[in-house]
Amino acid sequence: MSFDTLGLSEKVLAAVDAAGYKEPTAIQAGAIPQVLERRDILGIAQTGTGKTASFTLPMLTLLEKGRARARMPRTLILEPTRELAAQVEENFERYGTNHKLNVALLIGGVSFADQDRKLDRGTDVLIATPGRLLDHFERGKLLLQGVEILVIDEADRMLDMGFIPDIERICKLIPFTRQTLFFSATMPPEIQRLTDTFLQNPARIEVAPTATTAENVSQHLKASPSKDYEKRAALRDLLEGAEDLQNAIVFCNRKRDVSTLFRSLERHEYNVGALHGDMDQRTRMMMLDNFRKGNIKLLVASDVAARGLDIPEVSHVFNFDVPINAEDYVHRIGRTGRAGRSGAAYTLVTGEDKKYLEAIETLIKQSIEWLGEPIDFEAAAKERKARRKGGKSAKSESSNDNDAPQAKTSGRRRSQSKQRETVSEPSQEQQDALTPASVSELPQKAVNKKPKSGKHEPAFGAGVHIPAFLLREPRPKKAS
Ligand code: AMP
Repeated sequence: MSFDTLGLSEKVLAAVDAAGYKEPTAIQAGAIPQVLERRDILGIAQTGTGKTASFTLPMLTLLEKGRARARMPRTLILEPTRELAAQVEENFERYGTNHKLNVALLIGGVSFADQDRKLDRGTDVLIATPGRLLDHFERGKLLLQGVEILVIDEADRMLDMGFIPDIERICKLIPFTRQTLFFSATMPPEIQRLTDTFLQNPARIEVAPTATTAENVSQHLKASPSKDYEKRAALRDLLEGAEDLQNAIVFCNRKRDVSTLFRSLERHEYNVGALHGDMDQRTRMMMLDNFRKGNIKLLVASDVAARGLDIPEVSHVFNFDVPINAEDYVHRIGRTGRAGRSGAAYTLVTGEDKKYLEAIETLIKQSIEWLGEPIDFEAAAKERKARRKGGKSAKSESSNDNDAPQAKTSGRRRSQSKQRETVSEPSQEQQDALTPASVSELPQKAVNKKPKSGKHEPAFGAGVHIPAFLLREPRPKKAS
């Protein structure tokens, strides 16, 4: 199938051609003709399926007729996060190069005055997060009765983030004669109720249900010790062993671990960035931009920070932790193997992850292959039990498992763990660097900080080699 048959305008087709897209994705082929027919849409599709273009392209075509009036946007797109809102804006810029449309973004972290000015000028496309939109509305700077098309994107994520009451309020503020385009990766009951209330006879287009992972993604499990520093060493082993690794996202369950892992990889001279929900907007955008451009090869991220982001061409996904929510596994894996390319996903599994792993394998209806020996969950459970009972003795036994050289340990846990970190991980000074720093500082360092030296090898100890492209650029030597 080609884009020519979908009913898009010449201007839009020229932009699609310029973007290099040869044929529409399933959600685009299904949704675009229906949107152009002015039908409501219920699109069940995850990110990575081309869903953004499935609404931006027909909207651009429809917007060619008519013009905007001050403070009365013609179309409204609701996104759960600022990043997603910014990405949709970029889509309008990319596909709307042949149009003269005013696009405004209402997101937190940008001054109201600037946003007011844009609204006063008359807006064809308003892209907003729900809270910020309502702030503007309540200040009387925005009238919603001119909205002809309402897009609600990533509805299940809106639900996770507690935005549903805001969405309901916004839906009631917009004339019911509008056209509504509604997208969600999953359909929990709360979302079903919302669509029953606010959509009129929608065309339902469902692609790649979230319980399936792409066939072109190879998935592997790797047994790992549970201690953080040992896990970090296990991750480095995976990074070193991964074939055809061009760039990767490394997922952690907790944002605290995002910071720690980021710092650890940085100390090991990887070309790494981090992304998590607490970072300020500017830093997140900068980080993402650098990753997209290939300036950063590894991105450490939490689920909340990464879900829905448009990060093209990720060759690998590494799960530093087995996700607690099985669906997050599918979302994470969905970052690779896009648009028919092959991808690889590796998950570190510790003795404590049994039930989470089982939930994932039940959800995706397949068992995932182990790389090397599978973890012995029974033995791990026994060891945990013994540790709980025996306390000290079990602890000292397990501490002998580490690969630290012979060292004079004082017997205190803290010094033992420092000793191990010295081998596989940081020095004393580097350990100190693990103490919390301002989160928003972290990524800037990743991007801006120059490597301490041009030599990478010593940081790894004997026998460890990192592919050069994963390393940060060495600082050019001064001519002397
Ligand atoms: P989305 O699901 O909207 O996040 O899109 C995922 C990625 O697919 C984005 O990087 C788009 O630029 C890209 N994309 C969208 N439509 C197509 C298409 N028809 N052919 C190839 N790539 C596409």
